[in-house]
Amino acid sequence: METVAPEKEIIEVIKENGGDSFKYCYQCGLCDAVCPWNRVRQFSMRKLIRQATFGLTEIDQEEMWRCTTCKTCVERCPRGVDQIEAGVSLRKLAAEYDVFPGHVAPITNVVANLTSEGNSLGGEREKRTEWAKGLPVKAFTEEMEVLYFTGCYLSYDPRMREVAAATAKILNKAGVDFGVLGSKESCCGESIRKTGHEDLFKRLAKDNIKAFIDAGVKKVIVSSPHCYHSFKNEYPEFMVNFEVVFITEFIAELINDGRLKLSGEYARKVTYHDPCYLGRHNGIYDAPREVLQKVPGLELSEMADSREKSLCCGGGGGRIWMETPKEDRFADLRVRQAINVGAEVLVTSCPYCITNFTDSCLGLDDSEVLEIKDITEIIQAVL
Ligand code: SF4
Ligand code: SF4
Repeated sequence: METVAPEKEIIEVIKENGGDSFKYCYQCGLCDAVCPWNRVRQFSMRKLIRQATFGLTEIDQEEMWRCTTCKTCVERCPRGVDQIEAGVSLRKLAAEYDVFPGHVAPITNVVANLTSEGNSLGGEREKRTEWAKGLPVKAFTEEMEVLYFTGCYLSYDPRMREVAAATAKILNKAGVDFGVLGSKESCCGESIRKTGHEDLFKRLAKDNIKAFIDAGVKKVIVSSPHCYHSFKNEYPEFMVNFEVVFITEFIAELINDGRLKLSGEYARKVTYHDPCYLGRHNGIYDAPREVLQKVPGLELSEMADSREKSLCCGGGGGRIWMETPKEDRFADLRVRQAINVGAEVLVTSCPYCITNFTDSCLGLDDSEVLEIKDITEIIQAVL
């Protein structure tokens, strides 16, 4: 295959985009040893970095799009290379040339949806609050305690709308004065940024920031680790500051403050999956477990590869929008790990993980039963 962009340009683009830590790589291969891809097929981040070092990246190769930005290798690299930044820099070049090979092709539609309707699923902007029909959910006003930023999947995906409804019920039960932005809410932009669409990310971020400022938002509750990551670590690039709290942390606070009482019983065997963007990227491991341990009757067990070593579901870095052949899905392995510890319910708190695990459950034998739930759905069941 030919190199489709000039060598100098590739090296310059990586440098310009902050991905130039690749120059410290000494090709030890530790990143490949810990990368989840190598549990399902061969993939070498080390090789991509070596190609980039010499400006020999072929931007029409699918390999460049495999990284799920799970951060496992970044944590382990002895030379401090940020493989995610280096990989995203290469994707920026491909995005500039509109090169989306094979399984990556759906990105074109996602970009169109985000540009026209502000969400990745192609739902109409005006229907963003349809999930809340029949629920006591108000439009946000300045004097309210918190903004509930629902996010794209929880607003439009039929399965994930159940999670948004569960969240609203919990907040109402605890007497939290909250509201939503409705059609003024746009995608946080985290995942599209990882596909190299920097300008689109900036546009989405600016739209949200303007909506927050206009509405007088000071504190935001989020249900997606991707929104959390973006608001907490990326939006400060635009010189804004507002408090961001992940829903499980907020629920832990509500229980500890006596505002939320768990009175029912959930007598099930449960295991918890740490989403990459909540755990490795943001260090939130304890709050979800603390909440689950407070649920009467619930029996919590840990899977192999938990906490810092959590096995990625395969949905980060924009992979949720790309096609992944069945034999290449890490989510299938994760579902198997849950079954192996005797879990009846695999619980997590990320719309991408729930989507991927639910898909993987379709391939289980009839004798194997595993439910996939968001934490809020379990809390809702014991209110
Ligand atoms: S772990 Fe770091 S130094 Fe080793 S091959 Fe990977 S990027 Fe290079
Ligand atoms: S971030 Fe995760 S998926 Fe990407 S190369 Fe590193 S270990 Fe592999």
